[in-house]
Amino acid sequence: MTDTHSAGTGPYPAEAPASEALFDRARAIVPGGVNSPVRAFRAVGGTPRFMVRGSGPWLFDADGRRYVDLVCSWGPLIAGHAHPEVVAAVQAAAALGTSFGTPTPGEIELATEIVARTPVEQVRLVNSGTEATMSAIRLARGFTGRSKIVKFAGCYHGHVDALLASAGSGVATLGLPDSPGVTGAAAGETIVLPYNDVSAVEAVFAAEGEHIAAIITEAAPGNMGVIAPRDGFNARLASIAHAYGALLVVDEVMTGFRVSKGGWAGHEPVDADLFTYGKVMGGGLPAAAFGGRTEIMSRLAPAGPVYQAGTLSGNPLACAAGLATLRLADDALYQRLDTTANTVGKLAGEALAAVGVPHRLSYAGNMFSIFFTENDVVDFDSARTQDVAAFRAFFHAMLAHGVYLPPSAFESWFVSAALDDAALEQYAAALPAAAAAAAAAASHGG
Ligand SMILES: *Cc1c(COP(=O)(O)O)cnc(C)c1O
Repeated sequence: MTDTHSAGTGPYPAEAPASEALFDRARAIVPGGVNSPVRAFRAVGGTPRFMVRGSGPWLFDADGRRYVDLVCSWGPLIAGHAHPEVVAAVQAAAALGTSFGTPTPGEIELATEIVARTPVEQVRLVNSGTEATMSAIRLARGFTGRSKIVKFAGCYHGHVDALLASAGSGVATLGLPDSPGVTGAAAGETIVLPYNDVSAVEAVFAAEGEHIAAIITEAAPGNMGVIAPRDGFNARLASIAHAYGALLVVDEVMTGFRVSKGGWAGHEPVDADLFTYGKVMGGGLPAAAFGGRTEIMSRLAPAGPVYQAGTLSGNPLACAAGLATLRLADDALYQRLDTTANTVGKLAGEALAAVGVPHRLSYAGNMFSIFFTENDVVDFDSARTQDVAAFRAFFHAMLAHGVYLPPSAFESWFVSAALDDAALEQYAAALPAAAAAAAAAASHGG
């Protein structure tokens, strides 16, 4: 694949021979060379960097270069890479055995921590956010005896067949309207509405409310870039759903335990029926969960008839990493994430403003993204008005100057509490050249 970007003017050359060699090997045996599409740099061009190590705010690639990490494994690493307490917890757990296929005390510890922080009364642990939303949808259908699901364009809930209609994240990045392999039967019960549009929700419920099992929404979307819900939007979703006997499923896989101790619900309590979690609660290992009122959760097997299971669910290493991470996640840590996110976004905004690049800084708690557009961004359509060529140039100049941003204009930036003065300095030093590159790409139309 050829390099389509115009950067390469930083302290790091655009070439990354070790990553290129690894990517060549990978592409021969792994589709596209990656195990999750956004990692492949398709949206920005060039060779993805193969990372070999992380420490605090830093990532180190196979070419021996050091980057300030503003992806944080797509959110989980709120305490930074290889935090000593997380590493120690995983090592201690591993020494006792990696998996038993039986109940273990660690699962109860992690579930207790989740229940203490969130509105849920009962929680079931799974291995990925995809499993959490898939299971929550099945449970919502089983509980209500109805089939239809309402989702919002640009919201991503993992690669669940029924939810891969107008999804964000990698689907948005790659411009795939839907995925081949998702049958009409699987997606045909999914109704897709524009985000932040209450009247669209009211209209669809007025027409077919008695067939709708649930509305699923990101608590605050981060997968079409970050877009905060309008004031009262989530609360209206709850009241509309409940007026028709449907459930509200709030997907907190990204926001959960990242934007506050209790996730988005910590900022904006909403009367939702089911919540899904992932990312932070695994501390960088595969763990996710869904939960809600006992009345609903008790319909799950073996307590009830709705089947759900997992060989490695509640894995001891994942529980240890998640628990260690949540124990670090006190008020002081969230304060630090908020302050840092504010600083990082503000500095980028100032650098872009200085060279006249149109942009919108968009925050939901400490998650944020920069849309390269002059339009207000409230939904997927407005998010897509951005100038992706400007983002691409910005991204590559930042990379060349040692800053690892999400390799797509439709993703959140993530900070960790480990982001220190040295990392902030390297970040700030990269901005002028990146803003200039974005300005050049914008004025030349990419
Ligand atoms: C990441 C994400 C998922 C999917 O989680 P995976 O662990 O990648 O399967 C689901 N919903 C939201 C909101 C996410 O951000």
